[in-house]
Amino acid sequence: MGVSQLSPYLRHRLISEEEVIAAVISNDAFDVAEKFVQEVVWRTYWKGALHRTPGLWSSYEERLNHLSRVEPSETWSSLYEAARAGNTHLPYFNEWVNELTATGYLHNHVRMWFASIWIFTLRIPWQLGAAFMYHHLLDGDPASNTLSWRWVAGLHTKGKTYLARADNITKYSDGRWNPKESELAAAPFHIEDEALGRPGEAIALPPFRHSTHPGLILTIDDLSVENILDMKPYKSVCIYDPQASEQSVLKGVFLQQATQDFRARLAGVRSDMAISVATSLAEVTNWHDIYDIDAVEILAPNIGPLSKPLRELIASLSQTRVSVAFLQRSWDATLYPLCDKGFFTLWERFKKRWGQREELSGVVPIMNTPLCNYI
Ligand SMILES: Cc1cc2nc3c(=O)[nH]c(=O)nc-3n(C[C@H](O)[C@H](O)[C@H](O)COP(=O)(O)OP(=O)(O)OC[C@H]3O[C@@H](n4cnc5c(N)ncnc54)[C@H](O)[C@@H]3O)c2cc1C
Repeated sequence: MGVSQLSPYLRHRLISEEEVIAAVISNDAFDVAEKFVQEVVWRTYWKGALHRTPGLWSSYEERLNHLSRVEPSETWSSLYEAARAGNTHLPYFNEWVNELTATGYLHNHVRMWFASIWIFTLRIPWQLGAAFMYHHLLDGDPASNTLSWRWVAGLHTKGKTYLARADNITKYSDGRWNPKESELAAAPFHIEDEALGRPGEAIALPPFRHSTHPGLILTIDDLSVENILDMKPYKSVCIYDPQASEQSVLKGVFLQQATQDFRARLAGVRSDMAISVATSLAEVTNWHDIYDIDAVEILAPNIGPLSKPLRELIASLSQTRVSVAFLQRSWDATLYPLCDKGFFTLWERFKKRWGQREELSGVVPIMNTPLCNYI
């Protein structure tokens, strides 16, 4: 069960999918590296799937809001407390909770068992489990996490659930964990899907005035310096992180280090460029005032918790003289439209595209597409 543990770095794009795949292929022939490359393309598949159906994210968020308001008499509420504290009657499950909260990482197979037991054995709403995992994972990713939980619950591929079995856990943990068959749900049950949430309203951007020295706004969804900063003589970069205070302690530390790493890499490419980190709209205003920026380009984040704050940011910028344009990674712009069928269709299409790799590099402006698919 060899793993790379690259996911926190890929999640925040400290390293890009393209760089990782190119590196493994330069060491091994494509067919040798194929299994690993496929894993990396799974990340793109989930992101593309969420991008194509942003209402899945809003319905998940709405359900979470609702669940946070329900009375504690709900049948699952004491189990929910026990699960989060790693204090259930299932010692292996408790170990996974403790590992997750202490390290911010779980092996993929453990994530599958964890989600399945949460849903079908403990019978706690899947959205609460997804939110718990998202909060603690260093690689917590709105698309991979939410859609993987939906897949376990039988909502991604309708009717196809993932049921954790005692013998599978014993076998794949080499006997480290030995659940009794009677402790685990013997069969999955049907879970009714939520109605698709409404994606955010289409947003009109203030008209973009060409500027020779615009400012660049990035988010923690994409902290790659390379391929962007050589595009234009940006005046300054602002990393907008409105949810900094909501992270787990471990993730907060990881993201602080990621930002330091970003600064160091930027200094290597553009030593003259200033970087600011803004956690509020007021700090963004401060940033564009200080650097006298009248046009900003924003590298679009992915559908997820940044969507709402980004909408507020645009609304706030519209009140100023600053004009706004959106950019997207060519990787995402090329591959998301290919995520309209299952993973293996994307995989076949991806292999053809990899031959024209230059199309997958760099960034492109987002033109004539409703921004509600991005934020
Ligand atoms: C319930 C559940 C929740 C999950 N939540 C997340 C999450 O929040 N964030 C996240 O990045 N992944 C998530 N995954 C996918 C997967 O478990 C992790 O990406 C993987 O375990 C990361 O470890 P690694 O880097 O050692 O992976 P490796 O096995 O070394 O794979 C290499 C890279 O491929 C990608 N990858 C591998 N498997 C998957 C997969 N199934 N889906 C998407 N990308 C994959 C990752 O970027 C990973 O770094 C989840 C899976 C499940 C079943």
